[in-house]
Order: sequence, then C-alpha cells, then structure tokens
Amino acid sequence: MSATDPDCLFCKIVAGEIPATIVASDERTVSFMDINPATRGHALVVPRAHARDLLEIAPEDLAAVALAGQRLARTAHATLEADGINLINSCGADAWQTVFHFHLHVIPRYEGDPLRLPWTPGPGDMDSIRATGEQLKEHYS
Ligand code: 5GP
Ligand code: ZN
Repeated sequence: MSATDPDCLFCKIVAGEIPATIVASDERTVSFMDINPATRGHALVVPRAHARDLLEIAPEDLAAVALAGQRLARTAHATLEADGINLINSCGADAWQTVFHFHLHVIPRYEGDPLRLPWTPGPGDMDSIRATGEQLKEHYS
C-alpha cells in the first residue's frame, strides 16, 4: 500500500476519488490531463505514492515517473504532432509549485505557439481536454 495523504488532491485522483482524464497508469505512476492546459495535450505524471516534491520522492518513483513522462512525450509527438515537448517539474512554492504531490508536467509544444514561462493557468475546455486525453490513451505505447 502506497503512502497517501488524505488532504492531497493528487492522492485523491490516484485513488479515483476525484474524476480525472487518465491517460495511462502503471504500478508506480498515473498520468492524467491537466485541467488548466498550457497547450493542447498538457498532462501530468504523478507517483502513486505521496511525496511532496523532488526533494522527497523515492528514487524508484522518480525513475518510474521519468520513464512514463518519456512515453507520454513520445505519444504526444506522434499522435498530436507536437513539434516539441517541455518536461517541467516545480519544486517548492518559490519555484511555482502549487500542488504539493510531486508531478511532472508533459507539455506538448507547437511551432509558433504563444506559451511563455511561467504560464498563467486558466481553465480549459473540458470536452476538448477529454478528447485529447482519449487520443493519447489510445496511442500510448
Ligand atoms: P504546479 O503549479 O504545482 O506545478 O502544477 C499543478 C498543476 O495541477 C497545474 O497545472 C494545475 O492546472 C493542475 N491542477 C490543479 N488542480 C487540478 C485538478 O483538480 N485536476 C487536474 N487534472 N489538474 C489540476
Ligand atoms: Zn498526494
């Protein structure tokens, strides 16, 4: 049984207590769509076990998240025709972290897209997020 924090949003997503568009999951990780997407296909990879941030996550979970992030990046590149990918982790409030369960942002980039860092999160269109998540899920390999 993995460590969980009853007050943690991402622990609740991992446990299925809060709905999310899940793209992929394995023994150690869950990947799901960000509800405030910076670009089309923006997803998050989290460890199942609660860890606050990069300083606390167990090495095995960090490795598993990195591998899942690579798979998702390859899927976004092939399926969404992303021209590039940003993998971003924010560690600590001063580094823009807002949810304190370790997560890797997988942000597909498109030639000429307007995204600049740090981005200002805003709600996405849920139908479009779900549809893009289904596309990634179908082609995830
Ligand atoms: P951070 O700012 O900690 O690096 O990233 C947290 C991310 O979690 C943000 O991009 C934010 O949009 C996303 N997020 C916050 N609440 C929810 C939620 O309830 N569901 C999903 N899928 N993503 C969320
Ligand atoms: Zn958690």
